[in-house]
Amino acid sequence: MRRRNRAYAGPMSMKPARFDYDEPARSLVIEWDDQVVHRIRFDTLRRACPCAACHGELGSSGRFMVRPDLDPGEDDLADISLVGAYGLNVVWNDGHNTGIYTFERLRELGELASAQPSTRPLG
Ligand SMILES: [Zn+2]
Repeated sequence: MRRRNRAYAGPMSMKPARFDYDEPARSLVIEWDDQVVHRIRFDTLRRACPCAACHGELGSSGRFMVRPDLDPGEDDLADISLVGAYGLNVVWNDGHNTGIYTFERLRELGELASAQPSTRPLG
């Protein structure tokens, strides 16, 4: 019998080599295995939470569709942990921990973040 172990290989197989926090800048730093470094602001990350409560699902609106503003603590990163070989589970200070960000999504967010000037004031 042959086993297939390559489910996650392919064009989207880039993986983070290292995670770090930049507390003064309130950003998550991701160093990818192709040497690219991305900084994703906590509030950007929180708003991009992919879980059903934040993002909405069939028949119900997501949290940020109803109320776009962040409450205190909602964008304070408490902990991150790897989920298998494909993603990152983020725990926020308000206790929210149901969002699993795939590496693909994190890469996307990182690229968006680095395409924007960091000096832009909060709108
Ligand atoms: Zn969420």
